[in-house]
Amino acid sequence: MSSENNNDRSWFGSIHVRMTLVILGFVSLIASVTSTSIFGLRAMDSKMRFIEQVGLVETHFFGELADKLSELRLMEMSVNHAENETERAESLELLAQRRASVGQLTRQIDAIMPGRSDAALLDRFRAAWTRYAELHDGQFSAMNDRRPESGVRSRIHRAYAEAEEALDRLIDDSQHRINGEVVASNDLSREIMTMMVVAAALATGAALLLYRGARKDIFAPLGEITEALTALAQGRADVALPERKARDEISDLASAFRVFRANLAELEQAHRVAKIARRAAETMAQADPLTNLPNRRALAAKLRRYFEAGEQAPSCALLIVDLDRFKPVNDLLGHMVGDLVLCAVAKRLQEAAARAGLVARLGGDEFAVVIRLADGADARPAQDLARRIREALRAPILVADHRIEIDASIGIALSKDAADPTTLLSCADIAMYRGKKNQHDPVCLFEREMEGELRRRVGLEKALRRALQAGEIMPHYQPIIDLATRRLTGFEILARWRDPEIGPVSPEIFIPLAEQQGLILELSTAMLAQACRDAAHWPRDVNLSMNVSPVQLRDRRFPEVLLESLRTHGFPPQRLEIEITETALIGDVDEVRDILVRLRSAGIKVSLDDFGMGYSSLNHLRQFRIDKVKIDKSFTKTVFEDPESALIVRSVIHLARGLRLAVVAEGIEDERTAEMMGLMGCDLGQGYRFGKAVGGDEAAALARPGGAREVAA
Ligand code: C2E
Ligand code: CA
Ligand code: CA
Repeated sequence: MSSENNNDRSWFGSIHVRMTLVILGFVSLIASVTSTSIFGLRAMDSKMRFIEQVGLVETHFFGELADKLSELRLMEMSVNHAENETERAESLELLAQRRASVGQLTRQIDAIMPGRSDAALLDRFRAAWTRYAELHDGQFSAMNDRRPESGVRSRIHRAYAEAEEALDRLIDDSQHRINGEVVASNDLSREIMTMMVVAAALATGAALLLYRGARKDIFAPLGEITEALTALAQGRADVALPERKARDEISDLASAFRVFRANLAELEQAHRVAKIARRAAETMAQADPLTNLPNRRALAAKLRRYFEAGEQAPSCALLIVDLDRFKPVNDLLGHMVGDLVLCAVAKRLQEAAARAGLVARLGGDEFAVVIRLADGADARPAQDLARRIREALRAPILVADHRIEIDASIGIALSKDAADPTTLLSCADIAMYRGKKNQHDPVCLFEREMEGELRRRVGLEKALRRALQAGEIMPHYQPIIDLATRRLTGFEILARWRDPEIGPVSPEIFIPLAEQQGLILELSTAMLAQACRDAAHWPRDVNLSMNVSPVQLRDRRFPEVLLESLRTHGFPPQRLEIEITETALIGDVDEVRDILVRLRSAGIKVSLDDFGMGYSSLNHLRQFRIDKVKIDKSFTKTVFEDPESALIVRSVIHLARGLRLAVVAEGIEDERTAEMMGLMGCDLGQGYRFGKAVGGDEAAALARPGGAREVAA
């Protein structure tokens, strides 16, 4: 911004340039005033010297000469009028002296330089004097004792008068010259004075202008900027600086201030947003965003506190409430309706139990209630509550013209049954599953005889942790085939675990367990790392498809962990696809959307797994920019027997076409189905017809060009 201003600015706009120009102006003003004053003073000095010389010396000299000349003339008179010889002789003696001194003076006239006096006047005086002196000397020599005749007297007188007049003219001339010089030097000193007064006035004016300019252009805006900065420092960001027309350093400073303020505002905004986000995250970490109930984490924290209190804590009961017939609601009426039903359930649970204890949502359609039991009380109050809850939930829920009827299975465990929160949760869970199996009474209290199941479960958890540590859970690869060309396009990665003691464990058991135990990210990362290693030498057009659980899609670390793993193993993200299920897209979808956007922007494709029910799901396809749908195997397998399945498959393919999505049919077990699915418009197929999931080496053989890549019968 500042450089922009620098460019906008004319060279004269800069305060620096203007100050330099003003200072240069001042300096030259002072220099010219000083130099003219010096020249003027020197001129005056020479005039004064002239006056001194001509005035004091020559005027004085001419005056003295005039005096002496008139004395000589007077002495001539007294010689002429002497009454006796003695008197005459004395007068003659004096006359001779006068004559000598006048003669001496007239000789000094030659020393006067021409120019200082008028040369013509000097010559005229010299000539008149010479004439007079000759006549005088001829008449008044010591030998001549006669009185001059009257003719001679009048000639001497004329000669004298001429000399006197010439001398007077010289004196006048000298006086005139002095006067001239005096007037000139007066004029000069007046001029110098005027010039100095004018220069001082100019300098004062300029200084005033400069001060005004500086006040307007520098001091005032600097004051404003200082004020604005002070206000900013006090936390007030609303102080605006007045726009200035001038483009100079101050306006650059003002622009810099504005940029600074804008940055500060942005920073503050970011800080505010971060604070809000942190608060939201903190709340979200403890609350379920859909129903606002405390979430699994909040429940676990509460149970932990309870168990930490030890003996002093009164006994308590944990109820796990799992909805029945909720999945069809979700699938057939759409997730919007599903969400509203969950909210209604949350409300009814709170109405039924909040006063007695804490209601939490564990995820999906699973809720929990913790109540405190009175001293010595058995399980009865908990069982009563469970029944009240069930009654409340069985009442029809009305959502947008739909009358929805659901039910609930409830498992109850008492704190005395468990030593820690995890065990308590497992006990209630086991009781709940028991309840689900009992058509007549889905409310079930955990009992000792279920301990075997609990132990199996706890044992399985331990085994899972150990297997993960030991890297025993391995990726297997199920081929995905282009139904038109029957060429291999890629593999779905499926987790396989064979425990040395328990034997093979189905992913349908250990994957939910890993999710519950918070191990799923670790498991999935380990699987992906191994898959990248296995696939490193497979042809580049063989892609990998990886299952991602809903839990992972809500874990902010997930995208970076996954991308980092791909980077480490040099596997291109464009060759990876993730399979997500619709359960991941219920509830707080913003986070999920962010994570999907991040993955998609890295080049990873997204396919929607187990797809097939309710058309409302197609909303998700658009909303989450899905690339591919996988038709659930339950439809594929019944496409011949069940007309409804065939209709759904056709509709899904039709709509996917409209949205330009690829379609994969899962669970193709025979050639007839493969052909049918191909005819109906599925692009890709997967199932036992093309092969079960196989280990890395076998998959490599399948992937090899010229190997078993073409699986066509
Ligand atoms: P899915 O993603 O729907 O995987 C397809 C399941 O169908 C696999 O079961 C596969 O073996 C099975 N299958 C494939 N072809 C056929 C067929 O022609 N007929 C029949 N009847 N079944 C077929 P599997 O391996 O037992 O996996 C079960 C589920 O476990 C998977 O369902 C997936 O949801 C989950 N799963 C497996 N591995 C992982 C994993 O690494 N991470 C996550 N998050 N989930 C996984
Ligand atoms: Ca899958
Ligand atoms: Ca599937």
